[in-house]
Amino acid sequence: MTDTPRIRVRGLEKSFGDQKVLRGIDFESLSGTSTVLLGPSGSGKTTVLRSLNALEIPERGVIGIDDVEVDFAQLPSGRTGRKEASRLRAQSGMVFQAHNLFPHRTVLENVIEGPVLAQKRPREEAVADARALLDQVGLGERADAYPSQLSGGQQQRVGIARALALKPRVVLFDEPTSALDPELVGEVLAVIKDLASSGWTTVIVTHEIRFAEQVADQVLFLDGGVIVERGTSAQVIGDPTEERTRKFLRRIT
Ligand code: ADP
Repeated sequence: MTDTPRIRVRGLEKSFGDQKVLRGIDFESLSGTSTVLLGPSGSGKTTVLRSLNALEIPERGVIGIDDVEVDFAQLPSGRTGRKEASRLRAQSGMVFQAHNLFPHRTVLENVIEGPVLAQKRPREEAVADARALLDQVGLGERADAYPSQLSGGQQQRVGIARALALKPRVVLFDEPTSALDPELVGEVLAVIKDLASSGWTTVIVTHEIRFAEQVADQVLFLDGGVIVERGTSAQVIGDPTEERTRKFLRRIT
């Protein structure tokens, strides 16, 4: 673990039209740690996550991931700005709610697509890495299957392998189990827990409170576009001090 936080977020502000959804978000994440964003629907969690990946461009604030730092207030318009945003995007891999795999490609082809086409890595090397990742998510035997032959949970695990194949500095999970049937949630959470304990730096939006408790080194509780409470999971989930956090936890548990 290095002293400089792997993720540095300062003063993020973002509006959609005249609705201000982020009102000054600040946090840091150390390398190898998991940060869980909790909060009611509409509190801004996904917007924070998408900003980390430069899928949303905040009006103000700074996001740094390792040696790439973007000051959004200073982001030039046009091509230069897009280039800076894409440098930030390349630092993280995103796992979305629903797997969005290519249906006519095998599991293995889905996983190597980014490394080979976007990162121009040698195919053989990408295949070897992809096989190791598929083993890690428990799908080593299904490399030649097509997505339609897999369960939703397995497809989501392929989605995770695909995000990791790009060797991102940070892995972002946007409600990774919310589109799954309840009986498939556990296997996906187990894979994420395994990644988190094997040294990946993760930021996770989830409503799975027990999972959050187990996986999080840091919990940020958002409401109305601000971080209302932060701390370890024992502090924020186990012994919250803010009434808004307590109310949320009462409702969700
Ligand atoms: P959460 O993840 O906590 O549910 P979001 O970050 O998804 O919250 O959304 C915060 C607010 O921003 C919500 O009111 C949502 O409707 C609004 N919002 C999110 N994305 C967009 C968008 N692309 N256009 C307009 N409003 C949006």
